[in-house]
Amino acid sequence: MLERISKFFKKDKNSDINGGYVFGPSEHCLSPEMINRDARKIVDVLQKAGHEAYVVGGCVRDLLLGLKPKDFDVATSAKPWEVKALFRRSRIIGRRFQIVHVQFSREIIEVTTFRSNENQSGSKSSSKNSRQQTDSGMLTRDNVFGSIEEDASRRDLTVNALYYDPSDNSIHDFTNGLDDVDDRIIRIIGDPATRFREDPVRLLRVARFAAKLGFDIEPNTAKPMKHRAGDLQQVSPPRLFDETLKLFMSGNGLITFKLLLKYNLFEYIVPQLDPMLNDEQGQPLKLVSQALINTDKRIRNSQRVTPAFIYAAFLWPVVQRLASNYEKNGNSPPYALSKAAGDIIAAQVPVTAIPKRFTIPMREIWDLQLHLKRRGGNRAKRLAEHPRFRAAYDFILLREQAGEDLGGLGDWWTQYQDVDEDQRQSMAEDVLSSDKKPKRRRRRRNQSPKPDIS
Ligand code: ATP
Ligand code: MG
Repeated sequence: MLERISKFFKKDKNSDINGGYVFGPSEHCLSPEMINRDARKIVDVLQKAGHEAYVVGGCVRDLLLGLKPKDFDVATSAKPWEVKALFRRSRIIGRRFQIVHVQFSREIIEVTTFRSNENQSGSKSSSKNSRQQTDSGMLTRDNVFGSIEEDASRRDLTVNALYYDPSDNSIHDFTNGLDDVDDRIIRIIGDPATRFREDPVRLLRVARFAAKLGFDIEPNTAKPMKHRAGDLQQVSPPRLFDETLKLFMSGNGLITFKLLLKYNLFEYIVPQLDPMLNDEQGQPLKLVSQALINTDKRIRNSQRVTPAFIYAAFLWPVVQRLASNYEKNGNSPPYALSKAAGDIIAAQVPVTAIPKRFTIPMREIWDLQLHLKRRGGNRAKRLAEHPRFRAAYDFILLREQAGEDLGGLGDWWTQYQDVDEDQRQSMAEDVLSSDKKPKRRRRRRNQSPKPDIS
């Protein structure tokens, strides 16, 4: 059995004046030295200026679990402009949530003012400048300031709503988050359906943290998830793209993907692929799963990963299918592929706004899937020098790992990279002569774009 993270018995909890519980130094495993020095300094300056201030959110959760926090966030009773006045190198950012970025040495610490989840006036439209909601209940602006307790209740998960005070080494808990860390449970704060409606990205956050922490999703939290999945269509494409990076590029991509499928969330991330994943023995599911296995492994080994590769894998089965339809209609393979790639990307970008700096390499990886086959003579050398060669070669290996038969193409390129210049030349000549052997009839082809391998 796992050791309990908090060293307390429930009956010993001390009441916080704000209605939560305070856990003293003997009741948890944190200590002030675990907190980043800059974050501690910010809390100290704010407290000395008479404000409440805590380290909050993911860093407290991760430290309790013995994980390395990604960043340290500070929450305070000070208003954004009061925070800004206290720190020379700081600026107020954001419209949806106004926060202050305080710059220290090389790091930026986010300082957030306590916010309320309540609509102060009780009506949807009258607090227009501070809190806005769409008719479906989605929050579009949220700048109503509040108490620490209100701040806790507007956060997403109980395990993300723990406030740590380094000055007296205490944890303030308003949502029984410490119990849920102990019990390894992901639980939405408040009424799950309402909270998902307010911000559908919370659906993805539930899946992401359950996967990252290996926690169970509490049944009441899980219950409305499938039903609310469609709300993801209301999330702006740039935000949804950013969220997908966190889902698939944090080292737990495969588990996260499985949870997204379980709760019908994936169909709102890559709608074109989703119907092709129904067949459990099918190539698309194997390819995507393998791509995520490989990405998770690369992250564990501190190797570079790019969203271009992941999205190239997500969309490849769809591109391949459409390209083959275009070929059946008489287009040449490179032209069919290029046209399919353009169409599929154009349909994906309104869902997750993949920036051009990723769609361009995605198309290159796909184009090279054809060109890497035609490697006879001088072509092999030119292909190996293509800036996207490495990714395209990895993509060939991925397709083979997922069970596609490419006639040993991956092995050929692996060997090609391993041998010296003379041997490379003879390998390429061998391909050329074996290509020439069966006399091919030249077919009239539709005009096709020039291969981009110059
Ligand atoms: P990590 O940074 O490790 O991914 P985190 O929990 O710190 O995890 P952030 O996205 O950095 O996540 O957000 C900081 C905190 O802000 C969260 O812990 C949570 O309390 C709150 N939060 C973030 N996004 C939401 C949201 N969509 N709805 C409500 N609260 C949120
Ligand atoms: Mg964080």
